[in-house]
Amino acid sequence: MDHFDYVDGTMRVEQVPMAVIADAVGTPVYVYSTATLERHVGVFREGLAALDNPLIAFAVKANPNAAVLATLAKLGLGADVVSGGELLRAVAAGITADRIVFSGVGKTAEEMQLALEHGIFQFNLESEPEAEMLSQVALSMGKRAPVAYRINPDVDAGTHAKISTGKSENKFGIPYDRALESYAAARDLPGLDVQGVAVHIGSQLTDLAPLEAAFTKVGALITALREAGHDIRTADLGGGLGVPYDPSQPLPPSPADYGAMVCRVTQGWPVRLMFEPGRVIVGNAGALLSRVVRVKQGAKAPFVIVDAAMNDLLRPSLYDAWHDIRAVAPSGKQAAANVVGPVCETGDTFAMGRDMDVVEAGDLVAFMTAGAYGATMAGTYNSRPLTPEVLVSGDRWAVVRARPPIETLIEGDSIPDWLAD
Ligand SMILES: *Cc1c(COP(=O)(O)O)cnc(C)c1O
Repeated sequence: MDHFDYVDGTMRVEQVPMAVIADAVGTPVYVYSTATLERHVGVFREGLAALDNPLIAFAVKANPNAAVLATLAKLGLGADVVSGGELLRAVAAGITADRIVFSGVGKTAEEMQLALEHGIFQFNLESEPEAEMLSQVALSMGKRAPVAYRINPDVDAGTHAKISTGKSENKFGIPYDRALESYAAARDLPGLDVQGVAVHIGSQLTDLAPLEAAFTKVGALITALREAGHDIRTADLGGGLGVPYDPSQPLPPSPADYGAMVCRVTQGWPVRLMFEPGRVIVGNAGALLSRVVRVKQGAKAPFVIVDAAMNDLLRPSLYDAWHDIRAVAPSGKQAAANVVGPVCETGDTFAMGRDMDVVEAGDLVAFMTAGAYGATMAGTYNSRPLTPEVLVSGDRWAVVRARPPIETLIEGDSIPDWLAD
């Protein structure tokens, strides 16, 4: 559920007409709804209400905007970060270090040092060489790093190949079958305090079965590790729960269904549970608002050329992702159209042959469910400035990331002196 609704024939986000934002800020622009963020945090937390003090660490990579993070920090969420930059963003937004988890296969010594200085809750290690490096960094600082190993359970998450992370051929985690050896080696590293097990098998999961299979393996491993004398106190079950993109498709499992499965599978585990939801918190809380530049005749259907492009919203081009595309002020007529951006790539295509609201030059359209992996993946390809972002709360709204003037793109480069005269 989200708070983008039609009132008197025009789309509003909470109490603010989308057209008001487009006129004031220009397009393209990301628009986020505070009420939707609050709702999603509430629903996720409610699904886990039977658990004792779970740590819900928002996956910052899904939406790292400072205002979004500050909203989630106020609601008590922690952060799952995958870089030093994300760590600093989380801290700046008011997320305390005791709620921060650091994931990712390529943490550098500098990033490890930064995270140790802040005193984060847990490092999720993804290889034995990484464990050795972290131990050395921690020892050099006179500290012990709290760690879990992310295990690769070798389950097929049944999602797009580019967002599957839990198959043995993926780069993530340590092999499940070697986990006992890896943990034994980690116990001998004096800079580490081995406290947990972690898993994350992929994103946009629309079936609970692969998650349940992975969690079951985590449970068996916790038992084996404790029998081997490891003091396992945390289990991080990752993120990955899908959101509805296409209203004609069956709904993905709800946070309530997910929570019921988690409670059933983890019953009796002697650990604190941790979660890293990203998309399910922010996905439906954002839309990308864009204006139609012109409509051009096509061989089968007209091309609707909008002022948003693959540099603003990469998911369709990167993952073949489907976003609902709606007119902000629908005429009531529907027809097939190809929706494309202005970038000089055939991949700059949002939809082909899509049955949608008929729109004309100057009309506003909204790409729905764009709050996760949207603005965060934006780039400046074709020398297009980064997409601005707006946060709405009730009848208030604010620009939370301004559109940079195009000059900043040019000024960022410099001409070497041998070219300067
Ligand atoms: C991306 C990621 C997440 C969040 O995934 P969602 O599908 O957005 O919930 C959680 N944990 C890790 C380790 C990730 O890489």
